[in-house]
Amino acid sequence: DSAESTATCTGDRRRVLFFPLPYQGHINPMFQLAGLLHSHGFAVTVFHTHFNAPDASLHPDYDFVPVPDGGALPAADSPDDTVQATVEHIFALNRACEAPFQERLAAVLEDDPAGGVAVACLVADAHLLTLLDVARGLGVPTLALRTGSAACFRCFTAFPMLCDKGYLPLPAQDTSQLDTPVIELPPYRVGDLPAASIPAAAHGRTREVLRRAVTAVAASSGLILNTFDALEHAELAALRRDIAVPVFDVGPLHLLSPAPAATAASASSLLRPDRGCLDWLDAQAPASVLYVSFGSIASVSAADLVEAAWGIAGSGRPFLWALRPGLVRGGAPPLPSQPPPLPKGFDAATRGRGAVVAWAPQEEVLAHDAVGALWTHCGWNSTLEAACAGVPMLCRPCFGDQRGNARYVDHVWRVGVELDGGEIERGNVAAAIEMVMGAGEPGAGLRRRALELKRRAAESIDDGGSSALNVNMLVNLIQSL
Ligand code: UDP
Repeated sequence: DSAESTATCTGDRRRVLFFPLPYQGHINPMFQLAGLLHSHGFAVTVFHTHFNAPDASLHPDYDFVPVPDGGALPAADSPDDTVQATVEHIFALNRACEAPFQERLAAVLEDDPAGGVAVACLVADAHLLTLLDVARGLGVPTLALRTGSAACFRCFTAFPMLCDKGYLPLPAQDTSQLDTPVIELPPYRVGDLPAASIPAAAHGRTREVLRRAVTAVAASSGLILNTFDALEHAELAALRRDIAVPVFDVGPLHLLSPAPAATAASASSLLRPDRGCLDWLDAQAPASVLYVSFGSIASVSAADLVEAAWGIAGSGRPFLWALRPGLVRGGAPPLPSQPPPLPKGFDAATRGRGAVVAWAPQEEVLAHDAVGALWTHCGWNSTLEAACAGVPMLCRPCFGDQRGNARYVDHVWRVGVELDGGEIERGNVAAAIEMVMGAGEPGAGLRRRALELKRRAAESIDDGGSSALNVNMLVNLIQSL
């Protein structure tokens, strides 16, 4: 294609530098973007922290530069702690990496003339403001990647307004306002906003982390989003009015990244995916299996796990459960690599009907014919992956942007239903699974709309599609930097 020939045939090969925030849900889209730009002829250098370092041996074409991160780890033992711990970890990483990144980036820039591959820009996660500043300080143009939805980033930009208007912070223990519509940001209700679950005492720090992400974008040469026009048309249009820099909606990145799904997905996986479950899926009837996955960070209480298990058993449907070590709060699994134990009697009750793995090759699982629905925590990647595979969802969001994503799934795209908040209860779980997977409504309508969304996702990355055009514009911008 033309972009590729410009980059490779003129001998004017350019290098793009990448720096992901070291969390699975941020690493995956960054590597997918790197794969995409690599296929357009750019050389790739990945800067990364020691924490959650990628496996360089899986990417022989890329250069990797480790950056000491001060050893700070996120520490959390409850969903709300998780958000606060993540916020503090983001500050700590920015602080600790600043000086070492400056030094390593300067070394990469000095090396360049010898290799003949000039650095075009740095693409960094929008949460790495300090590192974006460092790069610009050394004369390197920057692009910010936000790994959530366009709607979510609009909440970031609108955060001061949301506070001024009194939507946030919520008074402690007060749940009366959770269903109040945010009239400036439909379809959000107060409880769907990214920071709604943060205690008032931690509100200032959260506000600061969101402000820094907005600043990181505003100071860059563009914002890259893993979404597509048909999914978030109005949100993208509004965002383009809200911010002055160009916005490139180049999603779904997992479908655009050129490597086959298997390689692309597992190559940035921090845990080793158990591919045996694909053979198990091969033996199941089409659209019969419930795939259950809560992503890489969300956690549940031991009681919720028991209720979820009995709800799944009670549904009577085949299931594949990605039960990652550390999913249950407070309860360490017997071995660090083993999933948390399921309740006594669960195996016997579901014998022959289910498969449990610690970590699944999720993109391939969702693309498998046997999968009929996803029970998800609504992380943005999982939401996008299911939507683009035409798989309807049962949503049980935990924190951060997940509630807002669930609201869009349930209310706007109408490709899933949300399991009510509060404690998980086995009867509700079984009933919700039946709603999504049963032959009648609403299941049939969810499936119809999910397939339509899959078609529109494919269209957006086809020649002339919105994301394909945005990729070309992004490639041209990078060439011009
Ligand atoms: N994932 C996976 N195997 C699993 C569970 C999750 O490969 O068993 C991948 C999933 O495909 C997605 C990422 O991990 O790309 C999780 O990102 P998401 O934004 O959904 O959630 P987070 O982990 O950030 O909460």
